[in-house]
Amino acid sequence: MAAQVLAGAGVRVTVVEHRPSVGRKFLLAGRSGLNLTHSEPIDDMLARYGDRRRYVEHAVRAFDASSLRAWAADLGEPTYVGTSGRVFPRSSRATSLLRSWLRRLDELGVEWWTRTIWTGWAADGALRFERGDGEVVTVRPDITVLALGGASWPRTGSDGSWVALLRGVGVEVADLLPANCGVMVDWRDEFVERHAGSPLKNVAVRVDGAALPAVRGDAVVTRLGLEGGPVYAVSAALRDMVVRDGTATLLVDLQPDLSVDRLTDRLRRRRPKDSWSSTLKRTVGLSPAAVAFVREVVPSLPGDAVELATVLKAVPVIVTAVAPIDRAISSAGGVVFSEVDDAFMLRRRPGTFVVGEMLDWEAPTGGYLLQGTFSTAVAAARGALRWRQER
Ligand SMILES: Cc1cc2nc3c(=O)[nH]c(=O)nc-3n(C[C@H](O)[C@H](O)[C@H](O)COP(=O)(O)OP(=O)(O)OC[C@H]3O[C@@H](n4cnc5c(N)ncnc54)[C@H](O)[C@@H]3O)c2cc1C
Repeated sequence: MAAQVLAGAGVRVTVVEHRPSVGRKFLLAGRSGLNLTHSEPIDDMLARYGDRRRYVEHAVRAFDASSLRAWAADLGEPTYVGTSGRVFPRSSRATSLLRSWLRRLDELGVEWWTRTIWTGWAADGALRFERGDGEVVTVRPDITVLALGGASWPRTGSDGSWVALLRGVGVEVADLLPANCGVMVDWRDEFVERHAGSPLKNVAVRVDGAALPAVRGDAVVTRLGLEGGPVYAVSAALRDMVVRDGTATLLVDLQPDLSVDRLTDRLRRRRPKDSWSSTLKRTVGLSPAAVAFVREVVPSLPGDAVELATVLKAVPVIVTAVAPIDRAISSAGGVVFSEVDDAFMLRRRPGTFVVGEMLDWEAPTGGYLLQGTFSTAVAAARGALRWRQER
């Protein structure tokens, strides 16, 4: 995106990528339906960036969801708003959008150096690259935009190896941590063997002790713990609590549409010969996986209907860790904002800009990651043009 803004202003641009092709994570994001941005009012959107809002607000306002949608439409991929308010390209995939985008960049004269890794700065301040055949190249461009991503799904190319390079020149970088990720739970073997991969449909999850609203959706039992949209949404709070306290408790409401009173009424319909398991299936409508889940987490269920209803509204899952970063959707951490100016230019390296997931912000899924990435890239490119002009 920065390349497009710069090349569009007549600047000669070279994009350097260490994988054989560019946009691999963008394509991966497209596999689960490329959620480009969100259609909610801008203030609601900005709230998704939490306490980092103040650093990205100007960028998101200057290149907002409607700008992003116009950009996609201009590339021949009009967008539509899904039922949840999320915005997707018409094809819901990234393939054709990326293809037209690269064609557009070609037309603007952008050059590509693939299989070329940036390995830092030479002693004289030039950028140092290593090509696939081992050749080392140094270059001194007027403007450098670092857009090297976070550290999730490293096989797409974003492996976080830049962290050491930036720290090496004194730039403060907060550790890259998993964000929008699953959580680890110590399940017993029998439970995993039978239920890994099973959904817990239409649950509401919240974090014990965190002042966050409950998030509804489908969670999925995995061999290592739990995944799924609502779990990702609260994973940042769980991650921070696990770091602080060693464990955290995820409260899973298996019947968010029923109050404790109504659930209690249903449980009281238990027939004398029925076990609790069959009562939970018959009167409460829980799936076999949901019944196994509650029995796994609370092995001795209370006999009293009110107490049992209370458990079903908040099954207390002990989370021992969040999933490793290489399986997370995104990363938290990165170059801290005190190291950059409003255009995301490194104070220690004038002329070098940092954008996207490399910066120390995080946001939930819902299109906010790509929106934040594109907005910071546009702000940096525009800032770079101003900086160049002033010089
Ligand atoms: C499975 C999955 C699904 C997702 N779905 C969505 C979604 O639907 N909506 C959404 O908003 N977000 C989604 N995301 C997140 C989104 O893809 C990222 O936030 C976004 O791609 C970040 O963009 P970026 O440019 O900062 O980094 P990246 O897209 O990671 O790009 C960084 C590039 O830099 C290259 N690179 C790294 N180091 C070097 C080096 N030293 N030298 C040369 N090249 C280097 C990498 O190879 C990579 O191509 C998803 C992520 C995943 C993993």
